Amino acid sequence: MKYFSTRSNNYNVESSEAIKTGIAPDGGLFVPENLPKVSLEDLKEFSHLSYPELAKKILGLYLTDYTDEELSDCTFSAYTKEKFETDEIAPLYKLNDNTHILELWHGPTCAFKDMALQILPHFLVKAIKKTGEDRDVIILVATSGDTGKAALEGFKDVKNTKIQVFYPEKGVSKIQKLQMATQDGSNVSVISVVGNFDDAQTGVKMIFGNQEYIKEASDLGYVFSSANSINWGRLAPQIVYYFYSYTTLLKNNEINAGEKINIVVPTGNFGNILAAFYAKEMGLPVNKLICASNKNNVLTDFIQTGTYDRNRKFETTISPSMDILISSNLERLLYFMSNKDYELVKEYMTLLSKDGKYTVTDEIKQKISDAFYAGFCDDNQTKDTIKEVFDKFDYTMDTHTAVAKNVYDKYLKCTNDTTKTVIASTANPYKFNQSVLSAITDVASDVDEFELIDLLKEKSGLEIPQSLAGLKSKFIRFNTVCEKDNLWGETKKFLTK
Ligand SMILES: *Cc1c(COP(=O)(O)O)cnc(C)c1O
Repeated sequence: MKYFSTRSNNYNVESSEAIKTGIAPDGGLFVPENLPKVSLEDLKEFSHLSYPELAKKILGLYLTDYTDEELSDCTFSAYTKEKFETDEIAPLYKLNDNTHILELWHGPTCAFKDMALQILPHFLVKAIKKTGEDRDVIILVATSGDTGKAALEGFKDVKNTKIQVFYPEKGVSKIQKLQMATQDGSNVSVISVVGNFDDAQTGVKMIFGNQEYIKEASDLGYVFSSANSINWGRLAPQIVYYFYSYTTLLKNNEINAGEKINIVVPTGNFGNILAAFYAKEMGLPVNKLICASNKNNVLTDFIQTGTYDRNRKFETTISPSMDILISSNLERLLYFMSNKDYELVKEYMTLLSKDGKYTVTDEIKQKISDAFYAGFCDDNQTKDTIKEVFDKFDYTMDTHTAVAKNVYDKYLKCTNDTTKTVIASTANPYKFNQSVLSAITDVASDVDEFELIDLLKEKSGLEIPQSLAGLKSKFIRFNTVCEKDNLWGETKKFLTK
């Protein structure tokens, strides 16, 4: 399987090269030359497999330059009970006869990012060898919270790599900050940046694009790479759990083989829902893909009108991991829906960076609205949904998952569709305990994070995840604050250490 760029036909690389580089040199995203097909017979057979076994099957269709042994090594090291607190890795919770919640947050950092970031380092270490790279890899990450911690946990103590995470001093929750500042591992560095997420992101991008820095790093024995969601090594592992949700439904006799399901995804950068779309195109029986947004509803408008327009107010919401106005992975969908018309994709992306908007052809718009339903909700509706689900089903969901549930309810209202439905649940409620707790009960505003955790435990009965329970007693290891124009200074210090 070869990988091409979404913006030209200049590249034709193996998966290891796509994973090592992260982004194509022309600024496009790497995409597989085709989507391998999975038959109904395959699906039935898959229902006998454990999570890592299934992951090996699916990933093997895409990472064809990895040997069987390498794939086993990656999947069985990444998806363990020790790391995910359950053998199922991604358990399916039955809310009612038609609605099933796919819990993707049992990993070490309590958000679905672990599903990909636990395995990416294994891919990358092997990619370094396969591509004949003799330098070590330095991963730089700008984060608004979840990605940074998940990347740190994934890469800590991984040989031939170093990872440095930059987070905005005032842009992350207290829990998220503590999670990063107490990070262990011999190859990690965590820096807080004076400014907002955009400042951190811009700073990191400037390092990646600076020839002088690239050379200096290389002289020190390092090559840059990225762990953000445009890397193919993060997208491919997300396809796996959609198959897993289907085979779990089969195994539990909830559906018949071949029966279609709906999939609802709370969406930000369009990575998670794109993986569901790829699964559908590979042969997973899917009726509708439901794209759920918060008040940053740029995708809802796009799917409904065919015009993508980021010229709007950035809203800060209680589902912060979906506060985004440029959904990078949409580029891969446009490539697919335009029948690989890279010239057209490039034109749209140029318009996006120049004018902040573009409009797709009627044909593309039609194809997209055939596959996707889109909707959004605001913070009050999100909280109402958390409360309603809690009261009716005695189930506690986080704010992101609640956005998905709310939009699914809207979809049901206007379609009366009775198709069995899987809702992707992307975070453990404890990660957003203030919002979740205030949705289901009255809390005073001056209660500290750890009291909130205890209160949520009392109210919900939900097990406190080990990683958050232990946070209180952990030593604060990183407290470096840096100005937004001095990120490279910190990186250089880290590389020479
Ligand atoms: C990252 C994230 C999302 C958004 O996922 P995308 O792949 O960017 O669409 C949703 N919920 C949570 C909790 C996240 O961390």
